[in-house]
Amino acid sequence: MAENGKIAIVTGAGRGIGLVITRQLLEAGMTVVAVDLKEDLLSELPGKLGDPGEKLDCRVLDVSESEGFTKLVDDVAEKYERIDVLVNNAGITRDGLLMRMADADWELVLKINLFGAFYGTRAVAKYMVRQRGGSIVNMASYSGLEGNRGQANYSASKAGLIGLTKTTAKELASKNVRCNAVAPGFIQTEMTDNMPQQAKDIALSLIPLKRMGQPEDIARAVVFLASDASSYVTGQVLSVDGGMHT
Ligand code: NAD
Repeated sequence: MAENGKIAIVTGAGRGIGLVITRQLLEAGMTVVAVDLKEDLLSELPGKLGDPGEKLDCRVLDVSESEGFTKLVDDVAEKYERIDVLVNNAGITRDGLLMRMADADWELVLKINLFGAFYGTRAVAKYMVRQRGGSIVNMASYSGLEGNRGQANYSASKAGLIGLTKTTAKELASKNVRCNAVAPGFIQTEMTDNMPQQAKDIALSLIPLKRMGQPEDIARAVVFLASDASSYVTGQVLSVDGGMHT
């Protein structure tokens, strides 16, 4: 398989969508550097992924720390002598209505969801440009395309990611480095488990395919965009949301 031997970095890999992306990239033959803020999640990861040995390299990092992210990317490039894929998946919510939103909640969501992706993208671009190839996949959201009540911070961060995706694609295309985004709708993970039942019912009623998505649905789209199967696709936002955004 063409993906054998590729080196991928996945952020927010400890659970949810990031964990399943890690699993599917491993199945595709890639070596995955699994990055997460939470050490306990990372320590359980090899067991959850069938002990992939040296194919899985777990690293603790807060993606909102610019220097730390740059150092991690430099370490990975030195160890493996290449970086083929970056999946900027780490993300958080701090929902609340606009008029009551605290500065701290606005800033934290922007710092992790948007600034983190920028730090990672800038750091890997150097190596991908040098090796004349690479694929960056950003985890956007339906909220970033359409806005969502109670998510001014989150939807701004995801809309920002879409701008970052399109600009990165335009700047790096001549070096055969691609950048795309996936925009999930409502996906069943710990993030959405915390939503009140009433909000879940409203969300479900808005989905044409009449079910919440599974992390596997998102991971398949990410693997497509990360791999050579999408070698002529860049600057795109692929909605994986059961038909909500058309
Ligand atoms: P999740 O909360 O289950 O998992 C997120 C992971 O990111 C966790 O392991 C967490 O420890 C890690 N993380 C959080 N902050 C971090 C930081 N500063 N540095 C490194 N790692 C950090 O979330 P999920 O549902 O799997 O979502 C994954 C991505 O998909 C997020 O970007 C989210 O915004 C996006 N998304 C999710 C949904 C959904 O319905 N679940 C919908 C649209 C978009």
